[in-house]
Amino acid sequence: MEVSTGQNKQKEQDFLVDSISQLSISNSTSPRVVAKFHYDSGVAELRFDPESDPNGSLHFDLHTSRLFKLSSFQSVCISEASEMDKEKSYSRGISIQFRNEEESRNFHCAFEQWKKEVVVQELSLPNGTVSSSKSKFDDKIEASSAKMYFHYYGQLLHQQNMMQDYVRTGTYYAAVMENRVDFVGRVVVDVGAGSGILSLFAAQAGARHVYAVEASEMAEYARKLIAGNPSLGQRITVIKGKVEEVELPEKADILISEPMGTLLINERMLESYIIARDRFLVPNGKMFPTIGRIHMAPFSDEYLYMEIANKALFWQQQNYYGVNLAPLQSTAFQGYFSQPVVDAFDPRLLVAPAISHVIDFTSTKEEELYEIDIPLKFVSSVGTRVHGLACWFDVLFNGSTVQRWLTTAPGAPTTHWYQLRCVLSQPIYVMPGQEIVGQLHMVSHKAQSYTLHLTLSAKMWGPGAEQGGILQTSSGKLDLKEPYYRMSQPQAYPLPQDQQPHQLLQTQDIQIQSLDEEASDLMQQTLQDSGAELHSL
Ligand code: SAH
Repeated sequence: MEVSTGQNKQKEQDFLVDSISQLSISNSTSPRVVAKFHYDSGVAELRFDPESDPNGSLHFDLHTSRLFKLSSFQSVCISEASEMDKEKSYSRGISIQFRNEEESRNFHCAFEQWKKEVVVQELSLPNGTVSSSKSKFDDKIEASSAKMYFHYYGQLLHQQNMMQDYVRTGTYYAAVMENRVDFVGRVVVDVGAGSGILSLFAAQAGARHVYAVEASEMAEYARKLIAGNPSLGQRITVIKGKVEEVELPEKADILISEPMGTLLINERMLESYIIARDRFLVPNGKMFPTIGRIHMAPFSDEYLYMEIANKALFWQQQNYYGVNLAPLQSTAFQGYFSQPVVDAFDPRLLVAPAISHVIDFTSTKEEELYEIDIPLKFVSSVGTRVHGLACWFDVLFNGSTVQRWLTTAPGAPTTHWYQLRCVLSQPIYVMPGQEIVGQLHMVSHKAQSYTLHLTLSAKMWGPGAEQGGILQTSSGKLDLKEPYYRMSQPQAYPLPQDQQPHQLLQTQDIQIQSLDEEASDLMQQTLQDSGAELHSL
């Protein structure tokens, strides 16, 4: 159902129920009744209009009403007499007979949602802004970011893009089907259901019921898709709204979700997954995926480094239609290096074995994802220039039958997440066996992403090193929200099979030598200005 914006003056939602009977007065039963949720200028009510008797409507004020399930088809709605006129009025109740279990469930969902909205409306300030009623999502995320985000996911083409990532979708399918025991007869919540594809998988695996929660307009398409697959769809209820805000009529035995963004944490949807766990999952319930890991290793890629540095050359022109662009040159240089690079790279560019940071979705607290601090320590396998930190992630489906990993590692079949590299404007030199230390500090921001603070240090090699471990340090600040999508560019790694990684890296000067002389001078100047060095090994 629609989630209130707090600004709607009027709205309605109808349900056809089989019959109702009043509890206190008599046993009389009204057959075929339309149960109507209705909001008009501050008054929210649930009205029962018998089809046969338009004058026999019963009104329940949603402020004071409560709904109880007696059986899968039958519920009671009780409206308490309000404090003020307890003397004159009495509590009332009706018994509602539903036509089927599905409709009963949907009605209960709608009731909870409407009641919640009543509270929101009451807390709304006169100018239309909502104060304390904001959800956890609204507290953390800028409205403009959320609007763009859900607009993006509301479009079928983006859902298709994810569905066509067969590594992703195939791994989810296999993880669900190979672990049928975790789904058969169970209640499932699909957190951020999108097209509803994972809900349909869960239903295929024998779930008793799936609640597909989706905040974007995609919820309507999911309904359509699910309705078009009736043998599965009869066990799926689509609920439109944020997992932070919607109410569900029962707890889930298992959550299924695909909340991973670039570097695992981009989009900040992991937090919604954790909130869904705390709100909907039974104690010790299962989560698919169960854990996630961020993997990191230093890399050397002279081509990439030069490509980024080259972009800033534009701003070195001193006579651009008679204008000197140089005042913005160092800003442009820093700007290009603040973009994490997203592409698929050759794993031979890594100069040390990777380390990893584990996030256990079953136990992590939501707040622990606001700021993530990862100490870095590597031992370089080769002598080279290190240009930054390469990152990727994997997630585990810890099924009762099979444990399955979905990986986005370099060298593994490419996914739509590719890999991510943080390139430092100042490369550092390392020798074989030399230690590289540092820190990756990731701070979440209100635009559903993170600011990345990266520092890498290595002991200086050469004169002075024996006197006491001088550190060469390079730092960068990057915005995960603004990546440089490079994967459409051709990959230039034509390596003979037996070539060693460090041999590859010795070809690094090719690009600078091919620049014309003037550009080459300018480049040297840019790099010197920024404190970066440009030397071959
Ligand atoms: N489960 C689908 C879609 C995954 S993309 C699939 O695997 O193909 C993530 C989806 O989660 C998007 O459709 C997005 O709109 C939705 N989403 C993100 N945050 C949400 C939140 N807080 N509440 C509800 N839905 C959310």
